Amino acid sequence: MLLQNVGIDPEPVIRNYCGKVVVVNNAGSFVITDSRPIISIVSRDEFDNYLLLRALDEGVDYVVDRVMRISYDEDSVKIVGVNDTYIGKYVIASDGANSVIAKALGNDIRANTAIAFMTIAHGNYFDDACIIDMTRIKWGYSWVFPRGDGEYDVGMGSIHWGNYRTQLINYVNKLGLREGVVLGHPIPIKHRKILTTKRIVLTGDAGGFADPTTGEGIFYAMYTGALAALALRKSGGPQDFSRNYLNLVDPLIRNLSLAYYVSLGTYGIDNLIMGRLGMSAFSIDGTGNLIKNVMSGRVWYSQVIKSMVKSSLIKGLTVIMRKTLT
Ligand SMILES: Cc1cc2nc3c(=O)[nH]c(=O)nc-3n(C[C@H](O)[C@H](O)[C@H](O)COP(=O)(O)OP(=O)(O)OC[C@H]3O[C@@H](n4cnc5c(N)ncnc54)[C@H](O)[C@@H]3O)c2cc1C
Repeated sequence: MLLQNVGIDPEPVIRNYCGKVVVVNNAGSFVITDSRPIISIVSRDEFDNYLLLRALDEGVDYVVDRVMRISYDEDSVKIVGVNDTYIGKYVIASDGANSVIAKALGNDIRANTAIAFMTIAHGNYFDDACIIDMTRIKWGYSWVFPRGDGEYDVGMGSIHWGNYRTQLINYVNKLGLREGVVLGHPIPIKHRKILTTKRIVLTGDAGGFADPTTGEGIFYAMYTGALAALALRKSGGPQDFSRNYLNLVDPLIRNLSLAYYVSLGTYGIDNLIMGRLGMSAFSIDGTGNLIKNVMSGRVWYSQVIKSMVKSSLIKGLTVIMRKTLT
């Protein structure tokens, strides 16, 4: 939806869609279906290259280099790369989870990060459903997303750091699939303490804008990138640029803070504690709502959170609170 709003049709690079998602937790499993695609699957190199080509169509200059250092003063920003030095008025930084620029601003880039491992596996498994399984890893989930042609994006992510490489390979083999190269990478799940200076703003993983519940960050990277461009367009000077951006990202920061509590509730209280007793605090419809609507970027957490908790649990808690207070 976000891409369509900026005039980009992602269709040519979508490898596969899932209109059916199987969710497994310690209390059981259920299937979520929708007539619209719930999850769209792309290959990152194809998707990123496609976006680059659209940007080139719009006339942007593209330079390949690696940022080594960044410095700034009242009038400009200087970036020292491996090949060259670049001087400009403003920088929209989008150099990912290990951002050199976020670090240069004074952030601890190791703080508040989840970790995920993935591989492209081959073989024969379900081709028409995506699987989200919370029983394979603590404080997170594993996924199986079919890419078509016998290829599957299989991964595991957790807010609890660890080396899940072997666990992932065992999982892939258990599904009857053959693993490919296994890649692991941090995912920042809380916005950085210092998000801007007068002439620099952090977006995407550089800014710590991934979702702590789902681990999704592509939508938020594109969204914060668009907000940074908007902030720049609206600004009359450096002070405005930073202020505009902070104002524009503020609702997103609130949304992702809510997602942080949802992740603690989902993976901690619900899956690890209640799930072991065969119970879940979350309603199937509400969880379906989260996967169908929040993951696809249609709504935000505040709009689904109430529907996620079972009404029987809310009634029970209300009764207990009333009794405690009288
Ligand atoms: C295993 C795994 C699976 C994931 N699956 C999903 C998913 O299914 N859906 C989803 O939405 N999100 C997913 N995520 C999260 C998602 O990948 C990130 O949140 C998202 O890519 C962030 O986008 P970004 O543009 O900010 O950073 P990136 O995509 O990491 O891009 C950063 C770019 O900056 C470049 N760069 C880095 N350092 C420098 C430097 N010093 N100089 C110049 N360039 C530099 C990098 O080469 C890269 O091209 C997953 C993450 C992991 C680890």
